[in-house]
Amino acid sequence: MGRLEGKKSIVTGGGRGIGAAIAKAFAREGSDVVVLDRTAADGAETVEAIQQSGGRAFAVGADVSDEQAVGQAIAEAEAWLGQIDILVNNAGIQTVGLIKDMSVQMWDEMIAVNLRSVFLCTRLVLPGMLERRWGRIINTASQLAHKGAAERGHYVAAKAGVVGFTKSLAWEVGRSGITVNAICPGPIDTDITRTMSQDLLQAKIDELIIGRLGTVDEIAPTAVMLASDEGAYYLGVTLNPNGGDYLI
Ligand code: NAD
Repeated sequence: MGRLEGKKSIVTGGGRGIGAAIAKAFAREGSDVVVLDRTAADGAETVEAIQQSGGRAFAVGADVSDEQAVGQAIAEAEAWLGQIDILVNNAGIQTVGLIKDMSVQMWDEMIAVNLRSVFLCTRLVLPGMLERRWGRIINTASQLAHKGAAERGHYVAAKAGVVGFTKSLAWEVGRSGITVNAICPGPIDTDITRTMSQDLLQAKIDELIIGRLGTVDEIAPTAVMLASDEGAYYLGVTLNPNGGDYLI
């Protein structure tokens, strides 16, 4: 028996990177998984990989910052899954810029994709979870939410917002059988870090006790634990798989 046998999950940003690893790990543990990414085509590779390993998965498309698109995608997901037990709010972007030079558009896009999305997806799955008195909401924040980072003030503000949202929602629903927690990864080898300058990347690595980037498969087990019955006593916490970031 997998640890998520019979559970129904949605993973946003599940098309690649950390989200893809979480979606695959959930499927291996017995969950049916909806991969929500910008388009259904963006989720196809993860879905195929899950299906080839004998799991059940389905892709839906939506820009997670768009209220209407999210409404349609969650309804589609619910129709395929039957119900939603586990939501992983993982989709995110990272851009770089000094606050003094930042346009309002760049700020707003970051807050919309990385923070408003968490609110939009979460509020649609809550009614069913509250009715069944069981649910797991797991938000991918970042170690930078604790630490701050030059040239990523908008990203840090959004991720710190995700942590605040996580802690507050845990208070609202924690006595109704629903846990809400955040994962704050350190630098992980994905497209986000692959597009950074070599200097910035090396500076990040030098701040880690472990002295290397993490892998997506070093993050997914934390999500599995929080999603399973083993995670029942975690409420409103941040778990920090970050390679030993001594500046936190
Ligand atoms: P990634 O770029 O590999 O994957 C992000 C996924 O989110 C992609 O599939 C992308 O299509 C999807 N996505 C982005 N914007 C979207 C939107 N508007 N609507 C729908 N889907 C959208 O990045 P990743 O490193 O796997 O990042 C996943 C999460 O982890 C993000 O929230 C990121 O901020 C966070 N994180 C990453 C790192 C890291 O070092 N890689 C560290 C800490 C936190």
